[in-house]
Amino acid sequence: MARAWDELVATARRTVADGLVVGTSGNVSVRVGDTVLVTPTGVPYDRLAPGDVVGVDLAGRQVLGSLRPTSELPMHLAVYDATDARAVVHTHAVHATAVSTLVRELPLIHYMAAALGGQVLVAPYATYGTQELAENVLRALEGRTGCLLQNHGTLTHGSSLSQAYDRTAQLEWMCRVWLAASSVPGTAPTLLSREQVAEVGERLRGYGQPG
Ligand SMILES: [Zn+2]
Repeated sequence: MARAWDELVATARRTVADGLVVGTSGNVSVRVGDTVLVTPTGVPYDRLAPGDVVGVDLAGRQVLGSLRPTSELPMHLAVYDATDARAVVHTHAVHATAVSTLVRELPLIHYMAAALGGQVLVAPYATYGTQELAENVLRALEGRTGCLLQNHGTLTHGSSLSQAYDRTAQLEWMCRVWLAASSVPGTAPTLLSREQVAEVGERLRGYGQPG
């Protein structure tokens, strides 16, 4: 449990260091058995110490620590309930958030969409921390490991914190590529077909790392 907490704090700090999150906006969780360790609300990640562990059960009841869990906990719990995820990363990454205000789905600008299960969808806006937002996110995640949250940010999950983190970084990068390509006046980016992305999905399952 202590090791999982250290890894969670390191991942949360990485989201700040890599510019995916400003201040305390964003949150990270990891599932250990039937306990979910989660970043607390309102505490800068550089001030989190080993003794600050915050844990809840799968129903959201606090079972570890005294700091209050993130207000965006319902979204994390919904993902653990509906998938076999072991870790969830939520950020307000700038390019991804910008894209979430422009489209209903991220155009197929790059084949790395396959690493997230296919075309990335945008979960319709709802107030942060609500069950409604959690449900919108689950719908956008169907068959996928990442989505955008309209006028809000990103959510990805994975079998480990590092995998969930990498998926967030890939998603933010793809959004940045699309924005860059779309911003050239008088032309529009070529896009991939669903079949082309699906073919890469097959390859990723068969051969491991993408080239
Ligand atoms: Zn948020």
